[in-house]
Amino acid sequence: MNIAVIGGAGFIGSHAVKLLVERGHQVTAIDNLTNGHRAAVHRQAAFYALDCGQTAALAAVFQERKIEAVMHFAANAYVGESVEDPRKYYRNNVAHTISMLDAMHLCGIKKLVFSSTCATYGQPDHVPITEDMPQRPISPYGQSKWMVERILRDTAQAEGLAFAAPRYFNVAGSALDGTIGEDHRPETHLIPIVLQVALGQRKQVDIFGNDYPTADGTCIRDYVHVWDLVEAHLVLLEHLKPGQGLFYNLGVGRGYSVREIISVCRRVTNANIPTREVPRRAGDPPELFADPGKMARDFGWKAKITDLEEIVRSAWRWFQAHPNGY
Ligand code: UDP
Repeated sequence: MNIAVIGGAGFIGSHAVKLLVERGHQVTAIDNLTNGHRAAVHRQAAFYALDCGQTAALAAVFQERKIEAVMHFAANAYVGESVEDPRKYYRNNVAHTISMLDAMHLCGIKKLVFSSTCATYGQPDHVPITEDMPQRPISPYGQSKWMVERILRDTAQAEGLAFAAPRYFNVAGSALDGTIGEDHRPETHLIPIVLQVALGQRKQVDIFGNDYPTADGTCIRDYVHVWDLVEAHLVLLEHLKPGQGLFYNLGVGRGYSVREIISVCRRVTNANIPTREVPRRAGDPPELFADPGKMARDFGWKAKITDLEEIVRSAWRWFQAHPNGY
């Protein structure tokens, strides 16, 4: 297929581009390079430096490249920043997605996979989280993704759009051949931060909160390998149905605490990783992990890399080889 990957120079988008190229698709990566890296985009993909809010320019690219389906990864994704600057999140994540949908509509493109998030569930009543649980996002970031889910449902009804909105848990790791990986500036995610401490680039890891109602007092999250995640996108793309939306949790189905992550990182890196206990970070629910059973039942998809040590090893290979990122 001719597939456009918007946000194709970002962490997850660049892995999607690589997977799609390797599976024989014609890939067009589009990214405004605000957070993405040109060097992250596979050489066999066409690349356009373009913001997805520019409907006319985007439609011209879709037309020129005969695009049949879109994967849309472009978004701002920091919960804390979204609380401080909500308009940035509603503009980039919601308004610009509408502009992108306008471009798809102009070109008659009816297939879309859109990155959603477990942050749309907010504070769940219980774990593991199933797709039918109430969505009550607690941050502008979560709200913005939830709003797009709503917009896509209505667009599917009105125009026959076929879409999937996979809800990601915590995405980690890097391509298994070591060619691409995670390079956020600033970095806020736990595993990269811990590995930067192991590299001597930071003094210590701050543990945000030690008084959560969990076994060791720290937050529990479900860490899913980026390669498993992008493979799931391809599965969803192959199962899209006109006028319908597919909503699936993408996680491993097991949670690890912040302390467990740090101790696995110590084992993998052999580094003494100093920590400092600091107050909770606003907006962090104590425990989030997926029930990934619906993806398994409906499509036979399950994360293959379920061993946390293997996930951390793949991230560590990238950080050791590219200590300064791209
Ligand atoms: N975390 C932490 N110290 C850090 C970064 C993150 O203790 O320097 C915790 C954070 O509070 C959360 C977990 O690690 O419970 C995962 O956070 P991350 O930012 O990686 O992903 P999020 O869960 O926000 O998507």
